[in-house]
Order: sequence, then C-alpha cells, then structure tokens
Amino acid sequence: MNAEIVAVGTELLLGQIANTNGAYLAQKLAEIGVNVYYQTVVGDNPERLESVLEVAEKRSDLVLTIGGLGPTEDDLTKQIVARHLNEPLVTDEAAKVKIDDYAAKSGRNQTPNNAKQALKIQHAISLTNHNGFAVGDLYLNQQGPSYVLLPGPPAECLMMIDRELIPELKKHGQQSHVFSSKVMRFVGIGESKLVTDLADLIDNQTNPTIAPYAKMAEVTLRVTASATDEKQADELIQGVVDQIMARDGQYFYGYGDDNSLANVVVNQLIDRQLSVTAAESLTAGEFQSTIGSISGVSAVFPGGFVTYANEAKHQLLEIPANVINSQGVVSKSTAIWMARRAKEKMQTDIAVSFTGVAGPDELEGQPAGTVWIGIAYRDEEPKAYLYHFTNGRQQVRARSVMAGLNLIRQRLAAN
Ligand code: ATP
Repeated sequence: MNAEIVAVGTELLLGQIANTNGAYLAQKLAEIGVNVYYQTVVGDNPERLESVLEVAEKRSDLVLTIGGLGPTEDDLTKQIVARHLNEPLVTDEAAKVKIDDYAAKSGRNQTPNNAKQALKIQHAISLTNHNGFAVGDLYLNQQGPSYVLLPGPPAECLMMIDRELIPELKKHGQQSHVFSSKVMRFVGIGESKLVTDLADLIDNQTNPTIAPYAKMAEVTLRVTASATDEKQADELIQGVVDQIMARDGQYFYGYGDDNSLANVVVNQLIDRQLSVTAAESLTAGEFQSTIGSISGVSAVFPGGFVTYANEAKHQLLEIPANVINSQGVVSKSTAIWMARRAKEKMQTDIAVSFTGVAGPDELEGQPAGTVWIGIAYRDEEPKAYLYHFTNGRQQVRARSVMAGLNLIRQRLAAN
C-alpha cells in the first residue's frame, strides 16, 4: 500500500516550523509496512489544498493530512476533504460531550466554532484526540484512496498516531509486511571510498536497501529490509551485512543510531581492563571530555593532561626542551614524547597525544589541519601518525579526537 502525507499549514510552507509530525508519521507507517512515496506541504488555502488532494489520490492508496482541524477560519482541512469525498460532516457525540464538559468545568462560554472540532466525516472511523478536542478521521474507501485526517499540534498528532491510527490500520489489514533496519558505523574511511567499495551492492539493491550517510569524521550505512516478519527481515539484513563486512570490515566499529566510537572504545577498554590517559595540545581536553561522557569510564581513566603551551609541556610532561626546539611542537617526536610521558606519569596501559595546528593560522610553517597523534601502548615503542584535516578549527579538533579514538580501537583490534 502506497501512502502520501499532506501537511497543511502556511507556517510549514514558509519554513517557520518544521514538519516534525510528517517525519514521525512516516516512520510509524514504515514500521507497519506502509510505503510513503510522497510528502507534500501546502498552505492554508482551500483551492491549493484541493488540488494537492487531486494529485495525491491519483498516485496513492492512502492520503494522510496533518493540520487544519482546529476551530478557526483557516482550519479547513476537514471541510475540504469532506466536500472532495461528497461526504457530509456530522457531530461525533463523544467529542461533543468532551467539549461541553470542558466548557462547564472551566466556566467558559462556548463559542460556535468550538463545536466545529467535534465534526467528523460521516462514514469515517473517529480517531479520538487524547490531548485536545479536534477529532481525527480514518475514512476507509473501497472505490478510491482511503483518507486519514490528523490534528496539527504535535502533542495531539503523535498521540493520535500511536494510540488510534496505527492500531486501526493494523486492525483493518493495511499491514502487509514489516520493515527492519540496522545502522552500521565506520571510521577511518570516507563516504566516497566506502560507496565505491560497495558500488555494485548499492547499485543492485532492492531489498535490503543500503543508504550511506556521512557524519562528522565517520560514515554510517543504514541497511533496511522489508519482509513478512521481523525474523525474515533480520536474515535478509544479515546477508548484506556479511557482504559489507567482507569488504570493509576493518573500518566497521559498531551498530546503532545512538552508538559512538567513544562508547565502543571505552567499553572495550573496560572489558579488557586497560587504562587510558591523554596529553592534549590542540584538542585542549576534548578527547578526555569525550571519553568522560561515557558512563563507567572512571574504571579505566584516572585523568590526563592538557598541555596547550610549550611551557605546560615542559612543566607537566617534562618533555625535553631540545625535542620541541629542534623538531618543532607539531612533530612526530613531540607527539611521541607526549604519549610516552603521559603514560609514565599516569601509569596507564595506553596514552594518546595530540599536537597540531587547529587554525585558522599556520604554525611553525605548517598549515592549519596538520595534526600528529601519538599512541603509547604498554611496553611497545610509542608511535605517532600524521593527519591533514580540513574544514576549520572545530572540525580539525573534533576529527583529531575521532582519529585518536580510532588509533586505540585499531590497536585493540590487533591483539
Ligand atoms: P489547532 O486546534 O491548534 O488549530 P489544527 O489541527 O488546526 O490545530 P494547525 O492549526 O494546522 O492544526 O496547527 C497547529 C500548530 O501545530 C501549528 O501552529 C504548529 O505549531 C503545529 N503543527 C502543525 N502542523 C505541524 C506539522 N506537520 N509538524 C509539526 N508541527 C505542526
């Protein structure tokens, strides 16, 4: 079944508010296997709304409107849809009682337009409004497209979707299949390279589909399958996940929309009982703040260093003066010494270090975005790696933190 969502409201059209109801509704419909092929936004204008309905019903089996069910003049969705369907509007008695009760309890006089909110399309199923007065409608139509009318205020709309609409659609057999999806997260590989590696899988995708999405310093792939039940969908997804892992598994770090590299790395450290510290120059504590946001980190993170100025590197880390003087502060040697000293001083298993040019100005003749990240792991000789990041100061710092986390992840994976 193919659905179309029509959001009604001039403030949506002008971009004054976002169509969050539409996004929520689309997700909920997807979960019960209703394909949303179109979303339209139209202002509070009767002719244009009607023309949108005419287009929608030619291409969709289910047309769902949001907004325009209120008491005021410009709330005219129900009137337009009813006229379009040649259906009279009648009073929903339960809604009328609710409005009357409220008026009696609050001591307010009702205005004639209050009663408008109790109107329903005659042959529609009423959708109760648990957070307001305007009644929603589900008009099931054998001859043409079915219609759903939902209120605009999000508290009313979302509750009506969850408690009324979705159960009714399920009951009336509009559920043909389920959608299930899995988000795979990758670091250390760009979106274009990942997409190129997977080009044939992505090009040939029908079910499951693979949708790449680039985030700050990482890429995600959403693998979505449609099937008759969850188990079958999960099996389909696993088949594609296996193929992706065979090609780019070394960059994969975890599943889930709400996951993060810091979360994965910190939990691996906790599981292996490996402690970590950091010596940070250009990131100025951002690495430590990032791991600090993961609960349970205190078991593996005793503390660390923010050594922004050269004096701090001398005083706190006792980096030999000749290292910075001869090699420069943004150098492999400085990064290695920072990691080594941090690890010695905090007596941890691992230390990472960050020294670089956050920008926008260059430093020691090195351009903004030049970053050395060091890693000291147990008794191994510390190492340092050179990066060139772009896109401004904050991105350079944030990408450095991700790269530092990724160095730890890779080192742990090598064991
Ligand atoms: P009301 O009784 O408030 O008039 P209504 O059903 O007529 O309700 P609208 O007047 O269209 O709905 O919208 C009411 C408010 O709900 C809008 O001002 C806006 O803040 C919010 N709203 C409407 N549509 C959406 C939407 N699609 N997504 C998010 N918010 C919305």
